[in-house]
Amino acid sequence: MDPQTKKQLVKKAVRPERARAKELASAIWELAEPPFKEHESARLLAEYLEGHGFEVRFSIPSVPTAFEATRGSSRPVVGMLGEYDALPDCGEEPGSYGHACGHNLLGVGAAVGAVAAANLLEETGTGGRVVYWGCPAEEALAGKAYMARDGAFRGMDACLAWHPSGATRPKAAGGSALDSLLFEFRGRTAHGAYAHGGRSALDAAILMDVAVNYLREHVPENVRIHSVIRDGGQAPNVVPEYARSWYYVRASDRKEVDEVTRRLTLCAEGSATATETTFERTLLDAIYSRLHNEPFARLVRDNLVLMGAPRVLKADLERVKELGKEPDFVKGVEEEIRWERGRASSDEDTVSWLAPLGAFTVACVAQGTSGHHREYTRQSNLPFAHRGMLRAAEVFAATALDLFSDDRALKDIRSAFEKATKNFRFDPLIPDGQSPPIEGV
Ligand SMILES: [Zn+2]
Repeated sequence: MDPQTKKQLVKKAVRPERARAKELASAIWELAEPPFKEHESARLLAEYLEGHGFEVRFSIPSVPTAFEATRGSSRPVVGMLGEYDALPDCGEEPGSYGHACGHNLLGVGAAVGAVAAANLLEETGTGGRVVYWGCPAEEALAGKAYMARDGAFRGMDACLAWHPSGATRPKAAGGSALDSLLFEFRGRTAHGAYAHGGRSALDAAILMDVAVNYLREHVPENVRIHSVIRDGGQAPNVVPEYARSWYYVRASDRKEVDEVTRRLTLCAEGSATATETTFERTLLDAIYSRLHNEPFARLVRDNLVLMGAPRVLKADLERVKELGKEPDFVKGVEEEIRWERGRASSDEDTVSWLAPLGAFTVACVAQGTSGHHREYTRQSNLPFAHRGMLRAAEVFAATALDLFSDDRALKDIRSAFEKATKNFRFDPLIPDGQSPPIEGV
């Protein structure tokens, strides 16, 4: 299909959804529900998709706010990832939740993209299926990891994802692989003044921390280890019989994380031996780093260029200025595909091992707006943010149209994926049957 015809078709397909999309994004922004508790936000998105002929199933019992919405038949199957969770302490009231990562836009943008793509499939009489994955708890870095463990994201020929940002560009590289680990120590309590009878679990947690700090010297440079002590006793005159530390291990790939986790566990073991306590380790979450797919990154880039970055109006500049922020917007599309991994992690990268993943960002806030901060929350419900979201929906629909109608494009993407995963068997790593940390850690 020639690009200009495709552009017109896509614009026409997204236009009727505009008003409803803005309402939904604002409603989810107001709800600002915590990870794993996005019941209303998930319901709003599911109802919107159902209203457009999608068959919706909340099919993953371990993750009640995850869902799958399908429309169309036969192949190819194109997936689209939506998120809708908020962040703590990012709302206007201290301690309240807010959409400081723009997931109110993310979930709706992908849903509108799914509706537009499914409508275009029908109109053009092309065979194929659109699957929208409602993915909770991205901010807990966990939703997709548990969904993947329980069978989600299978059977797709390709999958699309986006994220609101300060710039419009392909998002090809992804972030770091990660393990989230809980270490629980158990000792024996005693009167603090007669502590020789006790065995302190807190001592074990602190000793582990010291050991891990020595470990840092002997890990590759890209490795990051961070931790907090979640429990360490209640009073100095009671020897703590229970303590627990929560660690993140990040590295550029899965194997490296596995190796550092192994050594971290040795630190826990040594500390428990030294303090005559016992320990238990729980792998709360494990995510992969992104599997690159060059032909997909190029296809997404071409569609970003075709559809263009969202327009910046004078009113947008004024609104951002009113919020006390420099009204500095990136206007064009950044065409360069960058392959350098980010330090941060996203559970979206795990999906790239189950199907080829094509991802991008669209400018929805002023450049330099801090993510995970209430200044981001404020901007993620402005007209510019909504325009960015609708542009993302257009890029979803345009790319899906290519995947459905251009055999060559899909074939290149598939063969890059198959080559890279030839000897790979997906291991979710999180133990079977273990519940996600829905009530937090
Ligand atoms: Zn995010």
